[in-house]
Amino acid sequence: MAFVTPASVSDKYDVVVVGSGAAGGQAAYTLAMEGARVLMIEAGRNYDPVAETAMFQTNDAAPLRGAATPDKPFGFYDATAGGGWTVPGEPYTNASSEEGRQFKWWRPRMLGGRTNHWSRHALRNGPYDFKARSRDGLGFDWPIAYEDVSPYYDRVEMLIGVYGSNSGLENTPDSPDGVLQPPPKARIGELLARQRGRRLGIPVIPIRRAVLTRPLDHRTLPAKLHPGNARAQRILAEDMQNRAACFWATRCERGCSIRANYQSTTVHIPPALATGNLDILPNAMVREVLADAAGLAEGVAYVDKTTGLEHRASARVVVLAAGACETVRLLLNSRSNRFPGGLANSSGLVGKYIMDTVGASWGGQIPLLENMPPHNEDGAGGLHVYAPWWLYKEQRAGKLGFARGYHVEFGSGRGMPGGRMGYGSDAGGRTSYGLRLKEDARRYYGSFIGFSGRGEMIPNADSFCEIDPSVVDKWGIPVLRFHWKWSDHETRQVAHMQRTFADWIEAMGGVNRRAPDPDGRKAISAGGFVIHEVGGAIMGAAPSASVTNSWSQAWDVRNLFVADGAVFASNADKNPTLTIMALAWRTADRILDEMRRGNL
Ligand SMILES: Cc1cc2nc3c(=O)[nH]c(=O)nc-3n(C[C@H](O)[C@H](O)[C@H](O)COP(=O)(O)OP(=O)(O)OC[C@H]3O[C@@H](n4cnc5c(N)ncnc54)[C@H](O)[C@@H]3O)c2cc1C
Ligand code: SF4
Repeated sequence: MAFVTPASVSDKYDVVVVGSGAAGGQAAYTLAMEGARVLMIEAGRNYDPVAETAMFQTNDAAPLRGAATPDKPFGFYDATAGGGWTVPGEPYTNASSEEGRQFKWWRPRMLGGRTNHWSRHALRNGPYDFKARSRDGLGFDWPIAYEDVSPYYDRVEMLIGVYGSNSGLENTPDSPDGVLQPPPKARIGELLARQRGRRLGIPVIPIRRAVLTRPLDHRTLPAKLHPGNARAQRILAEDMQNRAACFWATRCERGCSIRANYQSTTVHIPPALATGNLDILPNAMVREVLADAAGLAEGVAYVDKTTGLEHRASARVVVLAAGACETVRLLLNSRSNRFPGGLANSSGLVGKYIMDTVGASWGGQIPLLENMPPHNEDGAGGLHVYAPWWLYKEQRAGKLGFARGYHVEFGSGRGMPGGRMGYGSDAGGRTSYGLRLKEDARRYYGSFIGFSGRGEMIPNADSFCEIDPSVVDKWGIPVLRFHWKWSDHETRQVAHMQRTFADWIEAMGGVNRRAPDPDGRKAISAGGFVIHEVGGAIMGAAPSASVTNSWSQAWDVRNLFVADGAVFASNADKNPTLTIMALAWRTADRILDEMRRGNL
């Protein structure tokens, strides 16, 4: 089994998985390693990171020194080979043109999805995050607790490799000994932020990122990940030896040809293919899930993008992993006499309660960091430290005026200069030229620090998506229409972020470029902008109030599972992808169990 075309797709699959990103990659990996025959269908083209990654090219060799352009919003060398903020021939719409009411939707179209260029921040949700409503009466509790997911966090961390450390901080879970990779040293700006953050009571600890800082232990890990399965252990042990540790080459968003960071295409797919149990069908846009007369899923209908022709693929089980909103679209477009409102939608909740991460940014210039001797701070292609949310007690005491927290990510350092970095500008952003430009570059380069707040959004009834009644994509498939609204909790949280960041820069002896605006509505990023969209098919304890049960299994269709972030009942400040993978592994285990018991 390997890469297939519509002509060579078999009719003997146990499971069809739609999507190949974090969710589809993890689900297909677990299923194939444990013996299920899997067809993975991917709308984008095949993509080979080893051959295609711009690993050693320098910015001076790129147009505009690698700077972002409308075509390449994350810079010239970003790994996105298909997809983006707009996808030709694949529109979506927003119901409102009012400011703050739009949702921006980033869509990948390539094997591996967004995992080829994500930032690799891999944080665990904590115990509070699964039971938020019980703590403050807002949003929803998940039907599962941290203890249900933590063994899967352990497994995912061991498989993909995550650097970080255990801090013992509130609602910031530790990992068992031997699971994490050692974190890289903090950069100078990060050290200063840590020192001055302490004065403000803000903890700064090593962040967790899906990057190997040393080779994986191929002798012990495979047995922990696949107990009792000698073949899977052998395949994984071999594969782990083909992954090198990070050698601090380039920004991880370019992808990693030495397979040191996690992307589905370098970590999940190669061993799954080596089992012989996985077929991958690229360039195939799934239109709908097909249901039989008994109301069970029997497969999917898809458009072969190379010919425009429609085909079907069948299996005992269907797993949707197309990215939260795309999964919603598939469910709503799967209409039949039996399911006129879309599949798995007896609750009417498919598309409801979509969430993003709350985002706001701030920056300043730090005279203490001027005129540093030249040195290289590229590091592990992303952050080395961050600040987890620290004000649980104050929030519980009602002192903050908003519910739920945020964490802080930093941008600092003397990494290889890109196109639009302020290395020739002073604290006020004024640039110079000639000899003065060289002097300024030496003086100011590396003296800037940026903060990004990443906060929890509480699900609300005004943020949802539905099928647009009149717009279709180039294959005639109805598209999504979004409705969006931030609540006061999120905008007040952003006002708090701005004040905190300004205070922090002052505590570093730095210069803020402007005063914080007390109105968070002006500083909050647009919905979808942080690209952490989740929800839309939330899991819950009752069929009337949720789309799936606690195993991500549709209440209405027992052989239909959702493996991506659509099932999130809340969206903690922690970046979602590690949780998506942990839940996808748990869901795949459930499918395997149910198949063994003859229930699927
Ligand atoms: C620049 C950037 C930085 C990010 N940084 C982080 C981070 O640091 N930490 C974090 O936790 N998250 C981060 N994210 C978010 C992260 O990438 C996503 O949460 C994660 O990839 C979601 O996994 P997924 O499998 O659900 O979806 P995706 O990775 O989007 O994969 C879905 C796949 O399904 C395919 N597909 C869609 N529709 C269909 C269809 N109809 N038929 C067939 N195939 C289909 C798509 O082509 C795609 O390949 C970042 C995202 C971006 C863009
Ligand atoms: S920084 Fe390290 S992990 Fe990231 S792309 Fe470069 S070598 Fe790979």
